[in-house]
Amino acid sequence: MNTGRKQFSENLARVRKRIAAAARAAGRDPATIRLLPVTKTQPPEVLDWIRAEGLGAVGENRVQEALGKRGEAADRHGLRWELIGHLQSNKAALAVAHFDRIQSVDSLRLARRLDRLAAEEGRVLPVLLQVNTGGDPRKYGWSPEGLRADLEELLAMQALGVEGFMTIGPLEGGREAARPAFARLRALAVELREATGLPLAELSMGMSGDLEEAVAEGSTLVRIGSDLFGPRDP
Ligand SMILES: *Cc1c(COP(=O)(O)O)cnc(C)c1O
Repeated sequence: MNTGRKQFSENLARVRKRIAAAARAAGRDPATIRLLPVTKTQPPEVLDWIRAEGLGAVGENRVQEALGKRGEAADRHGLRWELIGHLQSNKAALAVAHFDRIQSVDSLRLARRLDRLAAEEGRVLPVLLQVNTGGDPRKYGWSPEGLRADLEELLAMQALGVEGFMTIGPLEGGREAARPAFARLRALAVELREATGLPLAELSMGMSGDLEEAVAEGSTLVRIGSDLFGPRDP
């Protein structure tokens, strides 16, 4: 790790300014966009910094890494824990037990399993549906057509609370490629809200390199790692 507590505060102020500027440029209220710090590869002490700065949640990619960081696995460090990375089915029970929301629900098969596990725990698990808006074969998630086909079954799952959608910008092509991908997710969300009459309000999109494009296209939650904590080791 190459970022200390003070540097983190400065980075956070800078990221918040970027979000506010992008919101203003898009005619949006900056308060409608939340910032999710992504703590993958970071040591446990950043959890204290995040809480001290009044950020209420963290995003982690891997169940096992997150639980290791938490120490006593039941200890949430006063934060909400969101899973943002692909979930293998053999980790699904752990994820249901220890995460407050799963953003990376990326297939009907996984959704069915999570629904069953959450029902066994007697809870409704908040989730986002991950959409592969760039059609990138290396990425997980529904195609827009696939999601249209599966949505009815997804929304009927009693133990899953579908709150909206998540996407990861294209791995290549930079900001120019990111904006159309985010625009596709926004359009899909608008269409599915109209079709279902449900709020489906959360649009989780935008990372360090493309948060401006995401905010311009209606993001409600940007997931930021390296611009808060410094570059990750390769
Ligand atoms: C790592 C990661 C992020 C944060 O990426 P940065 O470019 O470091 O801001 C956001 N979302 C997902 C799904 C990630 O895996």
